[in-house]
Amino acid sequence: MLYLIGNWKMAPEKNSQVIDLVKKTTAIARTYKKSLTTIICPPAVFLPAVVKNAKVPLLVGAQGLAASDAIAQTGLISAGMLKDNGAAYCIIGHSEMRARGDNNEIVKQQLTKLFDKKIVPILCIGEKTRDTQGWYLSEIKEQLETAFADLVPLQAKKIIIAYEPVWAIGKDATRAATPAECREMMIFIRKMLSDKYDEKIAKSIVLLYGGSADEFNARSFVTDGAAQGFLVGRVSLEAKRLEALAKAITTPEK
Ligand code: PEP
Repeated sequence: MLYLIGNWKMAPEKNSQVIDLVKKTTAIARTYKKSLTTIICPPAVFLPAVVKNAKVPLLVGAQGLAASDAIAQTGLISAGMLKDNGAAYCIIGHSEMRARGDNNEIVKQQLTKLFDKKIVPILCIGEKTRDTQGWYLSEIKEQLETAFADLVPLQAKKIIIAYEPVWAIGKDATRAATPAECREMMIFIRKMLSDKYDEKIAKSIVLLYGGSADEFNARSFVTDGAAQGFLVGRVSLEAKRLEALAKAITTPEK
């Protein structure tokens, strides 16, 4: 089973667009339900409308949360609020959140809050830049070590990891990663998890790719990049392209 997770980021603007997109994404989730687990993560304000309109098998997640339950955090949202509004998953550690201050320690605290409320974490990790010596691996190592520091195997197994090189994300991306770059990282992440836990646990953790994934390059990330699916931003806002991506990764090669 592959994963297709849509990060809607700060879009769309209107409720009417939300309903339309949920309905179209539900149709995609239904068409590919035998081979894809499809999840959408809208802005929190749309969670009630999305939950109401998303039909089986489409699943719903959120895009972030406060690291503590203290009330005096104007503008933030707690894990409890997300749970009560129907979020079963939640993205944390996204580079756009890290850029606004969510460091590794905060991400670690957010993980605890999500586990408290039985929300599945979608943990984003990724290096800001690449160098030819492999120093970027230390950035990934630190992100992983901090996030998993206190997690018991039962918790670790539940996390979905999205490898998202920062330089490959969004409209300012330099380019998407290559499947070979993705594969190297998937091996590195699994090796780290295997060293911390064991091979069985490391193999059970879902590893996704994110960063300018689209209907044209997606298949190669699965066949050659060892990705078990995708966290997609822009493409998740265009139903036709999302459908094409779903088709590309699920249709057997002729
Ligand atoms: C993202 O925001 O997580 C992402 C992968 O964005 P995009 O697909 O637009 O690069």
